[in-house]
Amino acid sequence: MAEIRVEHLRKAFESFVAVEDSTFTVADGEFFVMLGPSGCGKTTTLRMIAGLELPTSGTILLGGEDVTFKRARERDIAFVFQLFALYPHMNVRANIAFPLKCEGLPGAEIGARVEEAARILRISHLLDRSVSGLSSGDRQRVALGRSIVRKPLAFLMDEPLGALDTELREAMIHELRALHDRLGATTVYVTHDQLEAMAMADKIAVMNRGIIEQFGAPRDIYDRPASLFVADFIGQPSMNLIDFRASLAPGASELALGGARVAMPELRMGCPERDLVLGVRPEGVRLDDASPLRGEVFGAEYLGTTQIVTVTTAHGAVRARLPASLKVNAGEPVGLSFRPEKLSIFDRA
Ligand code: ADP
Ligand code: MG
Repeated sequence: MAEIRVEHLRKAFESFVAVEDSTFTVADGEFFVMLGPSGCGKTTTLRMIAGLELPTSGTILLGGEDVTFKRARERDIAFVFQLFALYPHMNVRANIAFPLKCEGLPGAEIGARVEEAARILRISHLLDRSVSGLSSGDRQRVALGRSIVRKPLAFLMDEPLGALDTELREAMIHELRALHDRLGATTVYVTHDQLEAMAMADKIAVMNRGIIEQFGAPRDIYDRPASLFVADFIGQPSMNLIDFRASLAPGASELALGGARVAMPELRMGCPERDLVLGVRPEGVRLDDASPLRGEVFGAEYLGTTQIVTVTTAHGAVRARLPASLKVNAGEPVGLSFRPEKLSIFDRA
């Protein structure tokens, strides 16, 4: 297994820049997720790491070795495209063995490695079955078997669960993460789905228009989004983003929002009056009769133990995550306050 380091990676297709100055390190054994909307440059980055696309500039190091100009098959990386791509005319054993046959390994070693991969994936009992009769979950496992049997230095996965229905996807999210923990393999996983990213990643890079906007642990990205884009993209329901215009005194501990004073953990820098956005997660919003920030309950969506209550205010709709046991009625006037530790402030770009 090996660390992957990407330095100032850039890819332009003629005048269009798909990936701009991307720098990050995936530690040995880490599960790293590149997350972002369609077209932001995830696949292009992955293809450069795999050696399927030559960077316009920048460097790729695999286990400390510069592989930027090495061909894909010399990199010892497994690229998992679509987990469903199996050879239908071969049985499970032959499907898993296929990459090793291509490498020309001796039969006995192939046999042992296939048995080991099947054991790790808990599909030993399926080895002599035809792949055409398998459930979609088992087909996924066989396809994974074909990747892990090579014992590559790293795995690259491009939206491998994209084609699955919700139930199987959820199961495979946990299975993939558990498999990763058993193998300890460095993994770069690409998805546009934040729930997949949050559930699986040790580290996430959030990409937007070819640029990594934030790199960090899922919790950091959720709690302290570095940009308006990240704040809006991460979280379900998403962060409340409230426009306001203010000047902030340096070191101030509160700001004025409508008639309300909103307590802040700390405002690092002051700024002259300008357009700002206050970001607050629904779980950071409280109903507070004493608050001068007033609104009216629009509706509630029950989620089992909590409910998302939407309150219309002069600053737009604000969503609050509240205990499901709390009784609220549409049309009811309420006051709102925010937990200071849940607030972020962004420039309206
Ligand atoms: P993602 O995987 O995040 O959806 P991609 O990396 O596939 O995004 O693509 C990023 C951008 O680069 C897109 O706008 C896409 O159209 C463009 N792009 C990707 N490959 C090529 C190519 N071979 N030629 C021209 N443009 C490309
Ligand atoms: Mg893609």
